[in-house]
Amino acid sequence: MKEYVARRKGELQAEIALFDRKPGLAVVQVGHDAASDSYIRGKRKDAEGLGLAFKHLWFPEDIGEKELEEAVLKEASDPSIDGIIVQLPLPKGLDEKAIGRLIPLSKDVDGFIFDSPFEPCTPKGIVDYLASVGFPFEGKNAVVIGRSDIVGKPLARLLTRKNMNVTLLHSRTSEEDKKFYLGHADLVAVAIGREGYLDGRFPLKKDAYLIDVGINRGVDGKLRGDILPGREVAYQSPVPGGVGLLTRLALMENVCLAYKEKRK
Ligand code: NAP
Repeated sequence: MKEYVARRKGELQAEIALFDRKPGLAVVQVGHDAASDSYIRGKRKDAEGLGLAFKHLWFPEDIGEKELEEAVLKEASDPSIDGIIVQLPLPKGLDEKAIGRLIPLSKDVDGFIFDSPFEPCTPKGIVDYLASVGFPFEGKNAVVIGRSDIVGKPLARLLTRKNMNVTLLHSRTSEEDKKFYLGHADLVAVAIGREGYLDGRFPLKKDAYLIDVGINRGVDGKLRGDILPGREVAYQSPVPGGVGLLTRLALMENVCLAYKEKRK
């Protein structure tokens, strides 16, 4: 996976070097959240490393909704900005959906707005990676555990588009049913936020591909996924250094797509 990300980044960098200006990514942040601070640092590193222009707009927690709206609208009308991200979560009292809707669809590089022309980054990153290794989607069985709007549901949609037979499971699915569906799965993606949840209780096919989306900080401070490491399968994505890298890559690809769409 690391080699794939490095290769794609090299290709993107070469492509961006030929553009007539640097594609611009603006990240709007309110307040400080340890995870958000770290994600934004990662986005800046990726963007600047690839030759994109990165703009970080930070506002204090007590910013009024009107002022924040104006800041987003300013980026929306700036021709040098191709993609805008409102870093979530926003502090309580600010309406995330209302602020997010101010981003024009053509700059919604997170792909969170209904009808966005961009795929949400985590599902896009996963599907593009699987395609790159020749995973045989057509007619195979996929189980996605977790039905969030940013990962589980859009991933199920993209896998369906790849002609997989997709089962979307969640917290109301019984353990017995989970075992039943997992036992038939050629591809399993887990995005629930519960460290090591998919353990030996759940039998898997030996040739299954496991995609671990979860990021959980253990009591020892280390990051771990939703799947217990070392399952006997064809492939298991690592945490850290797995889906997180694919998500970051997909964001950079979306910014480049946004730039290219404008040039058409
Ligand atoms: P989320 O909004 O936190 O929702 C969790 C989902 O998991 C819900 O659909 C919930 O079901 C389901 N769930 C919870 N416990 C379950 C259980 N025991 N069995 C089956 N389903 C269960 O999800 P998210 O935002 O997609 O995040 C999930 C994880 O992925 C988190 O660890 C997050 O940090 C990580 N993440 C990683 C990346 C990355 O780039 N690597 C990107 C995004 C998220 P209900 O709907 O029934 O409540």
